[in-house]
Amino acid sequence: MEFNIGLLKGDGIGPEIVDSAVRVLEKIGEKYGHKFNFSSYLIGGCAIDATGKPLPEETVEGCLASDSVLLGAVGGPKWDGLGGDIRPEKALLGIRAAMELFTNLRPAKLYPALKGACPLRADLVEKGFDIMIVRELTGGIYFGERGYREGKYGTEAYDTECYSEMEIRRIAKVAFETAMKRSKKVISIDKANVLESSRLWRKVVHEVAADFPEVEIENMLVDNAAMQLVRNPGQFDVAVTSNMFGDILSDEASQLTGSIGMLPSASLGATKRGLYEPIHGSAPDIAGQNKANPIATILSAAMMLRYSFDLTEEADAIERAVDVVLDKGLRTADLVGNSAAAALSTTEMTDKILEQI
Ligand code: NAD
Repeated sequence: MEFNIGLLKGDGIGPEIVDSAVRVLEKIGEKYGHKFNFSSYLIGGCAIDATGKPLPEETVEGCLASDSVLLGAVGGPKWDGLGGDIRPEKALLGIRAAMELFTNLRPAKLYPALKGACPLRADLVEKGFDIMIVRELTGGIYFGERGYREGKYGTEAYDTECYSEMEIRRIAKVAFETAMKRSKKVISIDKANVLESSRLWRKVVHEVAADFPEVEIENMLVDNAAMQLVRNPGQFDVAVTSNMFGDILSDEASQLTGSIGMLPSASLGATKRGLYEPIHGSAPDIAGQNKANPIATILSAAMMLRYSFDLTEEADAIERAVDVVLDKGLRTADLVGNSAAAALSTTEMTDKILEQI
């Protein structure tokens, strides 16, 4: 099969880690007989330097014409003094909006080989965990009506949580479809004991569940979910939730894995085209030094194969290669910590992963 992939390398370590993921995709292409065509577009600080804008029109057009898009990271001290509208990070919201991406998939997986990096007690994570948080990305309180008004005690400010049935239905569908590719279990997280919007959320999620009889569905209140994540993270597989709850819980879950350089993410819309990126930033402190951990970006490429291109076997091959490399004790500098292992460079880690594919 042939796929056109848009590359948004961005700033800082972005070019180094995206180059690593491209090498992995090329290897997959060779081994499984696919052709990946890559086109690079400017985004973030490098785009500001070249064009005066963080998200040039050409970039948006290029991404919309691609089958899927892989992003490195944007931003850095060079552009920190710029005004809000032309800051590099503004391009992230812009590209997500232009591609109409309403779903954020945030896996948080604890690799057995990296158990020591988890801040939880060893007995709580004995079996490891592999959580997929499905977060609604374009609705809820971050986008609801807001403002200031005069109230009983003077000036007050308000933000509104509002979800339509359509918004809940489409994110729930993504969660159940994701569960069908995993262990067929969904936990829907809400605050239905207090919020009207959560009661609608729960009702619609259960309507969608009826279309997926093989998937087990459980409701969990968000305050309980925050506790359960640190008490027994292994009980979660796919967790679907609103924009704000997902924002908070996905950061909590990511910390349980102990390593920012390992976590991929995907943003999806109504079509197969998605935006895949590591959750970390542009790491200006190590940019250009061949020190960055490329695994989060390589795993983002694996997610692209799985969710945009339906290449499950190929995605499994990448994830398995990462498992093997970690099991062998190979580490980039961010993962070495206090251990005696010598740190591999970005390109050496990529070479080791390529050897396992
Ligand atoms: P960061 O994630 O870039 O870095 C935090 C720390 O983690 C740094 O010490 C860094 O060296 C380390 N780190 C991050 N990724 C790593 C990797 N792959 N391998 C090894 N170490 C890694 O966050 P920050 O320092 O708060 O932000 C730096 C810049 O990135 C800022 O301009 C910020 O706005 C931007 N940012 C961009 C994105 C994005 O593009 N999606 C996300 C977050 C931050």
